[in-house]
Amino acid sequence: MTEIRKKQDRTPVPKDWTYAPAPESRDVVSLRDRYGLFIGGEWLEPKESYETISPSSEETLATVGQGSAEDVDRAVAAARAAFANGWSSLPGSERAKYLFRIARILQERARELAVLESLNGGKPIKESRDVDLPLAAAHFFYYAGWADKLEYAFPNRRPRPIGVAGQIIPWNFPLLMLAWKVAPALACGNTVVLKPAETTPLTALLFCDVLRQAELPPGVVNIVTGDGRTGAALVEHPGVDKIAFTGSTEVGKAIQRRLAGTGKKLTLELGGKAANIVFDDCALDQAVEGIVNGIYFNQGHVCCAGSRLLAQESIYEPLVEKLKRRLETLRVGDPLDKNTDVGAINSQVQLDRIKELVAAGEAEGAEIYQPPCRLPEKGYWFAPTVFTNVAQSYRIAQEEIFGPVLSVLTFRTPEEAVEKANNTPYGLSAGVWTEKGSRILWMAQRLRAGVVWANTFNRFDPTSPFGGYKESGFGREGGLHGLEPYMRFEE
Ligand code: NDP
Repeated sequence: MTEIRKKQDRTPVPKDWTYAPAPESRDVVSLRDRYGLFIGGEWLEPKESYETISPSSEETLATVGQGSAEDVDRAVAAARAAFANGWSSLPGSERAKYLFRIARILQERARELAVLESLNGGKPIKESRDVDLPLAAAHFFYYAGWADKLEYAFPNRRPRPIGVAGQIIPWNFPLLMLAWKVAPALACGNTVVLKPAETTPLTALLFCDVLRQAELPPGVVNIVTGDGRTGAALVEHPGVDKIAFTGSTEVGKAIQRRLAGTGKKLTLELGGKAANIVFDDCALDQAVEGIVNGIYFNQGHVCCAGSRLLAQESIYEPLVEKLKRRLETLRVGDPLDKNTDVGAINSQVQLDRIKELVAAGEAEGAEIYQPPCRLPEKGYWFAPTVFTNVAQSYRIAQEEIFGPVLSVLTFRTPEEAVEKANNTPYGLSAGVWTEKGSRILWMAQRLRAGVVWANTFNRFDPTSPFGGYKESGFGREGGLHGLEPYMRFEE
């Protein structure tokens, strides 16, 4: 009785719950003023350089090298020498030791790398800390396990490494994309020249320190920073045996054209315009969380983002209502604050692109909703956005926005959902929300997407292959499938 009375006596809950700032310390990262190019295990001085900034504050973080064609040439020569001088003929179990070592160091230095990722890329620390870093380490652990089992992975096919892999990665998951590419390449006995994205080179440069700590032989991994010209020089280089590219469909197509007839192997992981399909029998609140995770995770800078919500007409209204209410609780701001849900947009260029497409959505007649939120004055920011009244022909329903912008469409029957979901040049991912297992399978068989998530979204696992159909590219990364592009077979 006393207990109950005590509770009744409590002062009422304040209406306005505000979060006290919970900033992660920057002190764990010690940045150098200048970074060279990591070639043959050494830091080489580039002829040209540029400044890399923090997109949340616009402050300069460091000066990094703008790799030239000659630098790429030196890096390829170093990778070729390392391939020939021992790495490719090292027993798989020995290669595995290096990969395990790299994985463990990534775990040990996870906090430092996560802070740097958020500083240079703008993503919330809770994402770099809980998603990017654990997954990057998991990829090295996973592929370390395969390094001495390739004969079992490809029985009777006599798998061999292919040589020097040229790898070009984007800015949305800088260290994770590096891990997706470097880990399987090394596990198979190849050497690597990797070009990080222009705006997010710093975790790749810190990774060079990890490689030295792991005592990886010089030249096995070379990192050449720079803009698209550096990437193009890598694609063109005759000494590269394979190109692995993640980025825009436009550049992917250009690379494919350049490589036609050269005999170089190629994998492309390009854009997407995924449908997140919500049926009226699903757990609605769970679906709302999945929708939010699907499009606002990493500010929507995700190739497999659920950027088109297909809602069954019978639940359209309550779903949109719940979604809008949930949006009001998202905290936009400092990426290093542990409470932040939506961080900074990666660059001014990307912010302009988002604004242009959002303006096109409004001009074409869609209805825009943005929750009230105050955006920081400095840096690049965009409020979480939902568009309703969207027709399939609108640009916001067709083009990859790559920002925190959701387009909502409706459907009545499963057939119509499949038709609308597949009505895109892309085919990377899709989500299905329903309580019926049979319907999940029925949908998954018909959706033209490399990954179909059921009652969840944006789940990644190193053991599971990832890749696209149509203009989303070809080849798979992750899992057993992710080894194949880095092997040739003496069948
Ligand atoms: P890009 O395709 O230009 O960038 C991806 C990588 O390719 C970067 O390292 C880039 O270097 C490099 N690159 C650029 N041009 C060339 C070239 N001619 N030859 C070889 N490499 C090249 O993507 P953007 O950064 O310009 O983003 C534009 C749009 O692409 C986004 O709005 C989004 O829609 C989509 N995108 C999709 C991604 C995905 O994960 N599928 C990732 C990133 C973007 P640099 O950074 O210096 O330009």
